[in-house]
Amino acid sequence: MPLERPLLLFKDNQLYTLNLASGTSVYEEELIDIDGAEYRSFTPRRSKLAATIKKGIEPSAICDGLKMLYLGAANGTTVSHVSDMMPHGRIFAVEISPRSFRDLLALSGTRKNIFPILADASDPAGYRYVVEKTDLMYQDISQRNQVEIFLKNAAVFLKPRGFAYLMVKANCIDSARPPRETYAAVRKELIGAGFIVKNEVDLAPFQKDHMAFILKRN
Ligand code: SAM
Repeated sequence: MPLERPLLLFKDNQLYTLNLASGTSVYEEELIDIDGAEYRSFTPRRSKLAATIKKGIEPSAICDGLKMLYLGAANGTTVSHVSDMMPHGRIFAVEISPRSFRDLLALSGTRKNIFPILADASDPAGYRYVVEKTDLMYQDISQRNQVEIFLKNAAVFLKPRGFAYLMVKANCIDSARPPRETYAAVRKELIGAGFIVKNEVDLAPFQKDHMAFILKRN
């Protein structure tokens, strides 16, 4: 019987994911052998998801076999690690920039659980026919209306009781306001829209002025 390998692990205080596309690195991250399997280093300065884990939040909602809508996929740095963590899942990865999308498209050639979509996340109608209802949502979009974008997509795609990660960059929403006031306003809006805030994690020192909201839909 094949050995059950952990998909995510800590070794010597560093985080790693089991490489789904063995022999390939995505953004020149380190590849190492751990007990005969290839792992990719997952660093909190490159990924806000890794930063939440380093800050003590277990990614227990990100389970193999689930479907995730990922908004703001960029070149696929974090998407590639989610792909390692959900080898039998599906990740619908939305990105607006054609330049970043090219890399994402190439990534999906070696990782069959990534479905890249070139689209504007503020208009979910543009991809509603290609994205299924999802168990999870992840959003990392530095836009003034990032909460509105999140709520619009959740209303269309996120299943009831689904989990979500919302990475909020305070100074993109309002650079004149202290970040803690912006986070309080975001929290209020999310709760008002029917979300339970499971965790709220300041991503410093790995990411400046970023708060991760980990949410559950009612
Ligand atoms: N999540 C990525 C990671 O960890 O690898 C980094 C994301 S980067 C901070 C934000 C991305 O959101 C950029 O690639 C940007 O082009 C994208 N973006 C901004 N506005 C968007 C929109 N309206 N729809 C889709 N993507 C958007």
